[in-house]
Amino acid sequence: MIAELISVGTELLLGNIVNTNACYLSRKCAELGYALYHEITVGDNEARLCEAINTALSRADVVILTGGLGPTEDDITKQAVAKVLNKNLVTDEDSRRKIEEYFKFRYQDNPKHTISENNWKQALKIEGCTVVGNNNGTAPGYIVEHNSKVIILLPGPPSEMIPMFEASIKPYLQKRQNKIFFSNMVKICGIGESKAEADIIDLIKAQSNPTIAPYAKDGEVHFRITASADNEEEAKRLIKPVVDELVKRFGINIYTTSEEETLESVLVKLLKQHGLTLATAESCTGGLLAGRLVNVSGVSEVFGEGFVTYSNEAKMKYLNVKEETLRQFGAVSSQTAGEMAQGAARAAGANAGLAITGIAGPDGGTSAKPVGLVYIAAYLNGSVAVNEYHLKGNRQKVRELSVIYAMDLLRRMILSQMNNQQF
Ligand code: ATP
Ligand code: MG
Repeated sequence: MIAELISVGTELLLGNIVNTNACYLSRKCAELGYALYHEITVGDNEARLCEAINTALSRADVVILTGGLGPTEDDITKQAVAKVLNKNLVTDEDSRRKIEEYFKFRYQDNPKHTISENNWKQALKIEGCTVVGNNNGTAPGYIVEHNSKVIILLPGPPSEMIPMFEASIKPYLQKRQNKIFFSNMVKICGIGESKAEADIIDLIKAQSNPTIAPYAKDGEVHFRITASADNEEEAKRLIKPVVDELVKRFGINIYTTSEEETLESVLVKLLKQHGLTLATAESCTGGLLAGRLVNVSGVSEVFGEGFVTYSNEAKMKYLNVKEETLRQFGAVSSQTAGEMAQGAARAAGANAGLAITGIAGPDGGTSAKPVGLVYIAAYLNGSVAVNEYHLKGNRQKVRELSVIYAMDLLRRMILSQMNNQQF
């Protein structure tokens, strides 16, 4: 089944608001197995909106519109849909009553208040449609079935649109789809997107059901494996061999096959599983690593303290980095990173230490130590591993990538030590 989205609102075209509705609905369509070939954004103009609706109806089975359902003059979505389908707008008694109740409650301290004429616009529905309740605002949504097509109208504010979609539209779309779609995520860190794709290009080329879709994220690559089947059991059966094959090929580079897990949650889980505690020492990331770790609820069990040691003095004072090391090799060096990781663990009485020192830029680089040069060290039960990275991007990106690679380094070290493998 093919779906098409129409986002209505001049403010979208002016760049005044970001079209998060389209982003959300595209993802939902993919999850529900609706193919999305086009998205349209159109201003609050009836002629152009009618044209967009006609175009969408000519090539999609389901057309989803967001925005323009409110009471004001520029809210024209309902009229435009009615016009295209050649249907009347009629009063929906239920909506009319709800509007009355809403204003009675809202203005109970002001009995003289009258409901302005344009509010009754929200009680109008396209004849023959289904009205969808809105628990978070006054504008209802609508489902219009017309010949073999469906047109769905949703309010613009995401705080109204998303709960309405989840509660009413998703089950409706699921029912219309005769197949179910089920997917698994394989999340990889430590391999670039092109290398990751090249490693499984034979599988990607041969894919049909399940499909394999790569998503490149900063420092990570995710593969979504999606199968369509008559039921969930059958879909899982189709997905399993593909996930198993990816696990075989990418091995330790995969940090999770669960949609919900993040790199930090996986690291925290590993630390807990092995009864380990962690301390961090950060220079150029200035606390970003600690910030990522505390995204995970329950992290306090394994993470008690982190040090932000930006200056050489702080590195010596809190982490016991040797003056001689700093003088001989510099603050951005493998030796300093190693001493920072070890020093943090010792100072905090933790089994593990994770340290980052680098040149995030845009200033401060030299030919010997250019911007993007970062050393990351992990200390675990007496051994230290230090990696040198040459990261590309602006200051923020260098810092964020450093945090990702740091968490990944410790994750790999724990897995290797626990499996008695050479790291
Ligand atoms: P209202 O009853 O508030 O007028 P509406 O259904 O008529 O709702 P719009 O008037 O088009 O919707 O938009 C109202 C607000 O909803 C916008 O100012 C914006 O904040 C948000 N909004 C609308 N469309 C989108 C979108 N595509 N993505 C994100 N936010 C949106
Ligand atoms: Mg509006």
